[in-house]
Amino acid sequence: MKKKQFKTESKKILDMMINSVYTNKDIFLRELVSNASDAIDKLYYKSLTDRKVKLDKDDFAIRIDLNKEDRTITISDNGIGMTEEELDENLGIIAKSGSSLFKEMNEKNKDINIIGQFGVGFYSAFMVAKEIKVLSKAYGSDDAYEWISNGTDGYEVNKATKKDVGTEITLYLKDNTDNDSYDEFLEQRRTEGIIKKYSDYVKYPIIMKKEVKDDDKKESKVEDETINSMIPIWKRNESEVTEEEYNSFYSDKFYDFEAPAKTIHSSVEGQVSYDALMFIPSHAPYDYYTKEYEKGLQLYSNGVLIMDKCADLLPDYFSFVKGLVDSEDISLNISREMLQQDRQLKIIAKSLEKKIKTTLEDLLKEDREAYEKFFEAFGMQLKYGIYSSYGMNNETLKDLLLFYSSKDKKRVTLKEYVDNMKEGQDKIYYASGDSLDKIDLLPNVERFKDKDYEVLYLCDYIDEFTIQALMEYEGKKFVNVASETTDIEEPEEKEMLEKHNKEAKDMFEVMKESLPGVKNVKFTNKLKNHPVCLSTEGNISLEMEKILNSMPTGENVKAEIVLEINEKHPIAKKLEELYKEDKDKLTQYTKILYNQARLIEGLPIDNPTELTNLICDLMSER
Ligand code: ADP
Repeated sequence: MKKKQFKTESKKILDMMINSVYTNKDIFLRELVSNASDAIDKLYYKSLTDRKVKLDKDDFAIRIDLNKEDRTITISDNGIGMTEEELDENLGIIAKSGSSLFKEMNEKNKDINIIGQFGVGFYSAFMVAKEIKVLSKAYGSDDAYEWISNGTDGYEVNKATKKDVGTEITLYLKDNTDNDSYDEFLEQRRTEGIIKKYSDYVKYPIIMKKEVKDDDKKESKVEDETINSMIPIWKRNESEVTEEEYNSFYSDKFYDFEAPAKTIHSSVEGQVSYDALMFIPSHAPYDYYTKEYEKGLQLYSNGVLIMDKCADLLPDYFSFVKGLVDSEDISLNISREMLQQDRQLKIIAKSLEKKIKTTLEDLLKEDREAYEKFFEAFGMQLKYGIYSSYGMNNETLKDLLLFYSSKDKKRVTLKEYVDNMKEGQDKIYYASGDSLDKIDLLPNVERFKDKDYEVLYLCDYIDEFTIQALMEYEGKKFVNVASETTDIEEPEEKEMLEKHNKEAKDMFEVMKESLPGVKNVKFTNKLKNHPVCLSTEGNISLEMEKILNSMPTGENVKAEIVLEINEKHPIAKKLEELYKEDKDKLTQYTKILYNQARLIEGLPIDNPTELTNLICDLMSER
């Protein structure tokens, strides 16, 4: 028969395949095995729908034979086979798949790695083979045909002989070069490893010949062995899988010595059908909070691995989830892939996200200790999810958050806080600082505790930013205890204070002059023993100022600082006296008091020399 030429686009793809520098050449086996499995599916389906066809599922198999002498790999199946026309049509042109891949690559200027991501079917075999023979006998036909090609000069289809229905594909491996050795694919262990990696859950047995050593006779014989495990754990019924099986699957697959905090196994049928098996680890991997960490779930198409880490399946704030998704609606083939994949994947991702969310909520409800351990490991990521989306993810995440509380210094949810609010309380109070103990000692916190208000203690650097992105919870605004608008005083107290402040207005003006960074000075009635404290007006708290200014972006933000003086403290009277008698000394006192307040808040002193001199001057006075 006359040699036929490949179509132009096909030639270009073949060219790429043949000269592929792609490192995952091993995917060719995945492609050929998938084709074999599809061919068996087709014949098996016939046997189900056509009563004349008598076939037993157990008779179906895929065989892989390695021949070191001839340097060939043969993949055979007893599936539906191909007629002469089908060989010509299916293998002669690179199906739509190939040409649209090519377009895609041209458009996006993607590199050749895309081949490994999705696979381009039969032609990937030219990455490792210099010649390919496909011997096939179609179901219902008496004749067999052979398709032969070296990839470059077209192909031939000739009449041949084959006893049984099915297809036998023989790859003549390329010669080894200085850079590439193809001999590795002739090694039993290597090939077996590739099958295990990509095709472990193909539903028909993949059989290889294996040498088995006989212990007694010290002889070895060759036996057939099924390489793949066929039924994946996620295809089994949840009620039939033990916790132990889930856990050992998890630790084998994701290399974690500790059992997961939670396992999520779900099968969904509908718009898009899929099985998902996901795990919430009970601790953060060592690289979790580094940029080396890669999120993603394994993506299978009907038991065949397409992608090891499909990032699009997980939102960033759930990036800690490990696991896999298997869907027959996601095609192994790139062409249909590229058209549909986005939409299908999005639907799956959305539904997985909901599933993860409810699972975490259940864990929180049912096993508080386990949830707190989880939160210890991944809470930062959830908070970051709120902060980094400017509140877009609030609905999803707000009920998964925990914050320390002034009550027992235990972690509470926002719901628990709100349920526990005092009568008439309509705000959520928080204080921030370096550590729980330090926050607990802040002057501003003291009066809230005295009045029996619960205060959230924010000691993660991200906490206050998260709170600001949340803005409110169930209609209750978040208010920093150190801000102006706390509003927990009795009306009479408030009135008295206002009056006092008005009277001392001129004095405060004088004091403010000596404190360039300070927006306001005033009396307060909220302090018990402390003489002074700092508060802020506006959105930026002192803690946030500290964090923002320590960031490498070189930001320089300023909180609007208010120096508050305890009106019941003897120092208040003393200041008023000085205002009348000695304005210089008033200035000295003001500077010292302001710096004291900064020390209490854990803030740096702008000019320590000036401060110590001032104190010494006062100390040396007679
Ligand atoms: P795809 O499988 O994505 O369609 P391929 O290039 O891998 O693309 O295969 C092209 C076509 O050749 C298949 O759709 C199928 O019809 C046919 N084919 C390939 N391998 C076999 C096989 N082992 N048995 C029967 N048909 C096959």
